[in-house]
Amino acid sequence: MAYKITDECICCGTCVLECPNQAISEGDTISVIDPERCTECVGAHEHPQCLTSCSVGAPVPDPAHQESHEQLLAKWKKLHPGETPLYT
Ligand code: SF4
Repeated sequence: MAYKITDECICCGTCVLECPNQAISEGDTISVIDPERCTECVGAHEHPQCLTSCSVGAPVPDPAHQESHEQLLAKWKKLHPGETPLYT
């Protein structure tokens, strides 16, 4: 499932730089994840980079966007045509 960013976010911008899918943008008060681009980092990293880079633990799984591992990998392939996934 896609991740979302909670109100704990201090909008430091670190996760924006770390996301391999350019899924995160800075909102007015917190950063925001586009669920159409978030793959839980499947295809690129072993762990969600927004979560591992966040100093306040703001990113959490979003139950409103349930997806299987296969669906996440398919999303990654669609976002990165011609590239080979590093983590499957
Ligand atoms: Fe980006 Fe990965 Fe966080 Fe999803 S889990 S928003 S792909 S860094």
